[in-house]
Amino acid sequence: MAFNIAIDGPAGAGKSTIAKRVAKELSFIYVDTGAMYRAMALYFLRAGIAPEDEAGITESCKEITVTLSSEGGEQQVFLNGENVNAFIRTEEVGKMTSAVSVYAPVREKLTQLQREMAAKTNLIMDGRDIGTCVLPEAQVKIYLTASVETRGRRRYLELREKGTECSLDEICRDIEKRDHQDMTREISPLKQAEDAILVDSSEMGIEEVVERILNIVKEKLV
Ligand code: C5P
Repeated sequence: MAFNIAIDGPAGAGKSTIAKRVAKELSFIYVDTGAMYRAMALYFLRAGIAPEDEAGITESCKEITVTLSSEGGEQQVFLNGENVNAFIRTEEVGKMTSAVSVYAPVREKLTQLQREMAAKTNLIMDGRDIGTCVLPEAQVKIYLTASVETRGRRRYLELREKGTECSLDEICRDIEKRDHQDMTREISPLKQAEDAILVDSSEMGIEEVVERILNIVKEKLV
């Protein structure tokens, strides 16, 4: 049976950075499910479908295929055969993603794909509903969080480093809005699974969090 690690938590908690590092240490595959939702959101944006248009979104789900591959340890996401990695990380796509990931047809499509991958391979999968819905039987479940201020500050520094002008207040407001949307939606809301271990990274460095998770995994592996 494959060994699965689920990492859930709000935007900007450091899930992907940490999950990538843990995957490398364990020689596990890393699956970033947010990127899959982002690829679908990109399709709707390009097609000019409004986030409120549930019927349009439901209909277009039939035309969308999302696939993943790994190149040099980096996950690549394909939307109907096109590598869309370069287009899915914008704020516009992030907001659209949170808005459309509330719909059942969007979630069902990706959940099925995620379960198929997890059944076959040892992997670490990050997202919002992995421990609660996608992989309820995962051997290790982590709920990684940090305060809004910490997450906002990290995002602010990241954007400034890329040369993007931004306001810390605005970033914090956007984060709070996305958290609210993800935590209050009807289907698969973001919440800590009962058997997940809470890790608050507000006062922790990346190395410390990676170490902590590796120790949790090693306890389960013996
Ligand atoms: O993790 P990331 O910021 O890339 O996720 C973008 C959005 O995709 C989240 O805000 C959430 O609305 C949605 N998502 C989800 N379920 C997942 C992963 C992401 O609903 N498993």
